Amino acid sequence: MKKSYKIEVDCANCANKMEDAAKKVAGVKDCTVNFMALKMNVEFEEGADSKAVMKDVLSACKKVEDDCEIFGI
Ligand SMILES: [Zn+2]
Repeated sequence: MKKSYKIEVDCANCANKMEDAAKKVAGVKDCTVNFMALKMNVEFEEGADSKAVMKDVLSACKKVEDDCEIFGI
């Protein structure tokens, strides 16, 4: 299952940090962040609860970049 989220982040460097942080979260199979489009594309593991996983992704991302936001979780 793949989902796309609108994000807010201040620079490409922080976008890369968000991508790396998200990839380490349990339930995330793969993640790509497009800074130009301000989009995060997440592929979830089989049977993962996307809402619960994305809450963990958001807190992981906030640890690396305080000002980031992920919308539509
Ligand atoms: Zn930044």
